Amino acid sequence: MTYVIFSPCIDTKNKSCVDVCPVSCIYLESDELDRMLYINPDECIECGACEPECPVTAIAHDSAVPDNEKEFIQLNAQWFEDPDAVRARINEIKPPA
Ligand code: SF4
Ligand code: SF4
Repeated sequence: MTYVIFSPCIDTKNKSCVDVCPVSCIYLESDELDRMLYINPDECIECGACEPECPVTAIAHDSAVPDNEKEFIQLNAQWFEDPDAVRARINEIKPPA
């Protein structure tokens, strides 16, 4: 179980969640490469501190992710194994402006 970031983060990335995470498990590689941030499911301690900090309601516990955002449960985990594949999928979900 973990918290998950989903689509409203794409191209928002204000990073207020990063500042409150006590275990620093919310990542991107760089603003140039990544259009959103990702929570490492192996590191997240499910404290919930990040969720209320997000101005666009892009974070939830994996059990509470909206049905139309559930793909992001897998995408958050996959980014730590194959970030390029996830970046390509993000561009399909929301084509760059
Ligand atoms: S739930 Fe807590 S540990 Fe998990 S990403 Fe959010 S702030 Fe970090
Ligand atoms: S606070 Fe929300 S929009 Fe900002 S980086 Fe975190 S998840 Fe993305």
